[in-house]
Amino acid sequence: MATPTTNLLKPIIDELLGEAAFLYIAKARKLREEKGVDVISFGVGQPDIPTFDYIVEAAIEALRDRFTGYTETAGIPELRRAIADYLNERYNAGVEEDEIIVTTGAKTAIFLAIASYIGIGDEIIVPEPSYPAYPEVARALGGRPVYVKLSWKGQDKGFYLDIEKIEQAITDRTKMIVINNPHNPTGTLFDKNQLDELMDIARRKRILVLSDEIYDNFVYGSKFHSVLEYPDWKDYVLYVNGFSKTYSMTGWRLGYLVVRREIAEKLKRLAVNIYSCPPSISQKAGAAALRGPQTDRDRMIGEFERRRDVIIEELRKVPGFEVAIPKGAFYVFPRVAKVLEKTNMTTEQFADHLLYSRGVVVLPGTVFPDKAGEGYLRLSYAVSVDRIKEGVARIKEEVEEILSKSK
Ligand code: PMP
Repeated sequence: MATPTTNLLKPIIDELLGEAAFLYIAKARKLREEKGVDVISFGVGQPDIPTFDYIVEAAIEALRDRFTGYTETAGIPELRRAIADYLNERYNAGVEEDEIIVTTGAKTAIFLAIASYIGIGDEIIVPEPSYPAYPEVARALGGRPVYVKLSWKGQDKGFYLDIEKIEQAITDRTKMIVINNPHNPTGTLFDKNQLDELMDIARRKRILVLSDEIYDNFVYGSKFHSVLEYPDWKDYVLYVNGFSKTYSMTGWRLGYLVVRREIAEKLKRLAVNIYSCPPSISQKAGAAALRGPQTDRDRMIGEFERRRDVIIEELRKVPGFEVAIPKGAFYVFPRVAKVLEKTNMTTEQFADHLLYSRGVVVLPGTVFPDKAGEGYLRLSYAVSVDRIKEGVARIKEEVEEILSKSK
């Protein structure tokens, strides 16, 4: 009788964490459908403004032309050219078309990037709190996430990533450092000095930098710097971006990875065995998105900045909440430890309590592994100003009530 082979990674895959934002979508739907609750969701990170008309028109045209078959695995040349032009105009990066792999969302780009170098026992340094895909993909591949905490510097200064701590976390198993800039979930923007130091470590220690810049256009009042500005990026950088946020195209599943040519060649073979190619219609729409006028995009981002200011102002009125001003992305990550201390609730219990008692979805910071999110909540402000006001008012009432009971 043939002996079944042991899959070393199976026990790890059985234990992978899901993405809480998706779990909360289901919880909120249930509450809406079964109890008729008017749920206000600050949960999932998805622009509420629909995909812009000129992009939808391009997709309709692609359908009319029956552009509905497989494409090259790396994506249609028209789209790769548009991506290269976007990056080169912005950063003078010298990106070539054959250094781009268009993927089924930035998530697949993250998977390919991590799979390119992380194997069993390899370490990947992840600043935490973190978007969960980086550590979970690394674990699925047998790698080991090593967390470096962003430190909380109080309401005025927000979160800070000490690059020296990254260097201290390096061992001879370290293969990759992740940076997500602007940062989900804290909204932190990493500045030029921090990137200089990070790239310097990459050079000296010969370690790769996976830079996820999916929020590159959601930057308020500061200058954004990309790892693609460094002339030697091709030696160290795996660059991830996508269309979900900037063009409000989450359901279109379109992202991309930029890496030097030899790695791209290798990863195309992995990609073709997983998903063949990204969706053809979305690719046409993505090319139109980049080539078209950017007025809709800029208007949306202006609106998000206004919402950011509103949500901060409102959240700062909630007793026990400490709220730093995020410089990028569309999340705010208030510190609520004072409320938890007084009410003896865990972060998760508090988030659930707000959902079930007031119909407000917020994510507990602990779903952004490993533990740095303990005592924080994440709120996405991709919600209209009226709903922001209403949602935070509900949170405020509830917090006032539970604090008065705990006295
Ligand atoms: N990276 C980060 C930091 C994100 O927040 C998200 C979406 N929440 C993604 C990647 C995935 O985006 P996509 O929809 O393109 O897969």
